[in-house]
Amino acid sequence: MADADPSGVLEETARAIRTCTRCRLHAGRTHAVPGDGPFDADVVMVGEAPGKAEDASGRPFMGAAGKVLDKVLGAARLARGSVFITNVVKCRPPANRAPRADEIEACRPYLLTQIAAVRPKAVVTLGSTALRGVLGSALQLKDARTKRLALDDVPVVPTYHPAAILYNRRLERTVRGDLRKVARAVRADGSARSPTRSSGLPRA
Ligand code: URA
Repeated sequence: MADADPSGVLEETARAIRTCTRCRLHAGRTHAVPGDGPFDADVVMVGEAPGKAEDASGRPFMGAAGKVLDKVLGAARLARGSVFITNVVKCRPPANRAPRADEIEACRPYLLTQIAAVRPKAVVTLGSTALRGVLGSALQLKDARTKRLALDDVPVVPTYHPAAILYNRRLERTVRGDLRKVARAVRADGSARSPTRSSGLPRA
């Protein structure tokens, strides 16, 4: 994957996602939401699943949670256009229910392909479903935040989902702090993108 043309891989993956029928979620979608952002982004952010606004537009984080995400990214001085944003599952679950384990498994190869193509300096997981989708483990988010986590050689930084901030405003400070750390680490690492470079973020 490291030698493949990353933007070609991302485009091909997006095409496959738009016609995917691997799980039941395809039946209810208006648009699949492959994700968007630069193919050479330093940071990949992973959410849970498209909601109504995302299903309507085909783009991630367009609704209320997206507004919160924009705010916390701005506070961390991470331009939204500089990060690659995607979700664990690419089609909206009915009535915004949580994605089921088999849906996450069916969609996981797309997510792993996207991360491998971008080769970011850090992957930020937004919420516990995203953490499970990226690492494939059932870690509690609270515990995971104190651990050094990585996917292959890429540091994984778990934080709370922007929608959680809508219910608990105190989490905004925590998420801002997490994103600031990520922003500082990726800025401090001037090296070319490579799965083995040091980003200053904790590694497993
Ligand atoms: N919540 C998510 O997890 N992803 C989106 O794209 C929108 C809301």
